[in-house]
Amino acid sequence: MTYNYHTHTFRCGHASGTEREYIERAIENGITVMGFSDHSPYRFPDGREANYRVKTDTAEDYFVVLRQLREEYKDRIDIKIGFEMEYYDLYFEDMLSYVCGLGTEYLILGQHLTNNDTPGIRHFCSRPTDSEEQLEAYTDAVVEGMATGAFSYVAHPDVFNFTGSEEKYEKEMRRLCKQAAKLDLPLEINFLGIRGGRHYPTDLFWRIAGEEGCTAIYGFDAHDVPASFDGDSIPAAEALRAKYNIPLISPDEFRLLDPTSVLEKLRKENK
Ligand SMILES: [Zn+2]
Ligand SMILES: [Zn+2]
Repeated sequence: MTYNYHTHTFRCGHASGTEREYIERAIENGITVMGFSDHSPYRFPDGREANYRVKTDTAEDYFVVLRQLREEYKDRIDIKIGFEMEYYDLYFEDMLSYVCGLGTEYLILGQHLTNNDTPGIRHFCSRPTDSEEQLEAYTDAVVEGMATGAFSYVAHPDVFNFTGSEEKYEKEMRRLCKQAAKLDLPLEINFLGIRGGRHYPTDLFWRIAGEEGCTAIYGFDAHDVPASFDGDSIPAAEALRAKYNIPLISPDEFRLLDPTSVLEKLRKENK
């Protein structure tokens, strides 16, 4: 494994270590392309900022530090600077405008909350629920997010912790997987889920992904230095792909999509 586009930094408030330590460990283990994708900063119109994201007042520092390190390490590793971001239909253009203004080079879609993160009606996707409405809201957000063309892949597509009927789960996840296959967007087998013994990756999701002809990408989802190369989780990911016949995207095939061009298009349309 020579690439990883899912790396956090301490700025999100729940990760440890320095960028330099992450980079050194990745290089030592043969990573040649390393993407930083911390939780995207955003201030909602009411002034609120989610507590698990990079704060807007440290967002510029993220780019300054990573650009310096990119220059310093350029002969040894190719560093990309992006974000993991939710798709919130109410705020999408504003969020995109903010991260593009900072200089983000790519985005991955990590949908951690539903319903535009609105207190009272949102659901934290990794918390167990049997709410079909919330499962639908999650699926809608991911399906619409993929369609924007701003996201290069879907992080932990199976993060939604649904405890209701299997039939309903299958119906919604099939909708998600069909969209990924249609748009040719890879779905991430998330290594934090594997090493953390979380509820994902789930067998049922990846069976559907295999049936729908989806492609997988691996993501370490590093929140600490050891995870900036998580070789221990590779066998489990390989076994999952083999079981459901899911191809792994090759580094040559994988393309980062440009969020800025999507923003420009949106601005033209909304003029
Ligand atoms: Zn995180
Ligand atoms: Zn995530």
